[in-house]
Amino acid sequence: MDLSVIIPIYNEEENIPALYERLRGVLDPMPLPNGYEFIFINDGSRDQSLALIQTLAARDSRVRFINFSRNFGHQIAVTAGLDRAEGEAVVIIDADLQDPPELIPQLYQKLREGYEVVYAKRRSRQGESAAKKLTAKLFYRILASITHISIPVDTGDFRVISRKVVDALRRMPEQNKFIRGQISWIGYRQTYLEYDRAERAGGATGYTYRKMIKLALDGITAFSDVPLKAATIGGFLVSGVAFLVMLYTLYARFVSHDYQPGWASLMVSILFLGGVQLIAVGIIGEYMARLSANVRQRPLYIVSESNLPELPLPPQR
Ligand code: UDP
Ligand code: MG
Repeated sequence: MDLSVIIPIYNEEENIPALYERLRGVLDPMPLPNGYEFIFINDGSRDQSLALIQTLAARDSRVRFINFSRNFGHQIAVTAGLDRAEGEAVVIIDADLQDPPELIPQLYQKLREGYEVVYAKRRSRQGESAAKKLTAKLFYRILASITHISIPVDTGDFRVISRKVVDALRRMPEQNKFIRGQISWIGYRQTYLEYDRAERAGGATGYTYRKMIKLALDGITAFSDVPLKAATIGGFLVSGVAFLVMLYTLYARFVSHDYQPGWASLMVSILFLGGVQLIAVGIIGEYMARLSANVRQRPLYIVSESNLPELPLPPQR
């Protein structure tokens, strides 16, 4: 098989028919002699998405689907698609038509020129709240500045990757996925194309602020230890200041005998130190939680039904 298209689905009933038509319109004329497949992963949708996908699958044998037992999240849905994709190249695309299917031939063409990863970088973003754009911009820049690997800024998961990269991804068993970071970590020759990101075609975003914060923390904790070090450095700085204040207190008490019942200064220092300590403990907790998730070694997702087998990983050479 030449190409697999992985499409995570969470309450996308309004977009699935148009998405399918547009994808077919783009893929059918492409030079793919060994064929292609669609892999829809229904990530616990509560609308008619699954029924729509199953109707498509009944009509078109290239439509494959995986139905999760509940909502496991976008990154896990993509992971399940990667576990079952047969294609020599794999496209990851959102279902809401924010990622234009019309870009796929150009991405694929670039891949054929000898790259292993061709990602699509947003030149502009339409129909997104100012807050989302700002937090996303900030996040990508903070992440870039505190990681050793270079994770491209303003880039989502819309991309085409080669079989080599898919196999490498499948060998990374971490529980808290940040796929775009993992792909950067894997290396090989990577390049990008720029595009203007459209507005969501129909329906509402499935990425709540809660899910976005989780994704951001997964990205940071998986690829950087800087926050842990910042907690240590912050601790030293605060201790240094506290030591100076202590010297001054002793001086005021025993030498200059100029001291007041110091309610205000006590409160300020207690609150400040308490805050710093809690932040540091919280940062450690974020890493600890992920450590324990990985120790538990649970399966990443539970499939309730599918018309696709999970593929065995080829032995690593
Ligand atoms: N999605 C998913 N599980 C979730 C949330 C989202 O599979 O828990 C899918 C969603 O159907 C879409 C893609 O992930 O295909 C991107 O989500 P969305 O468009 O809601 O995110 P946004 O573009 O607003 O960041
Ligand atoms: Mg979207």
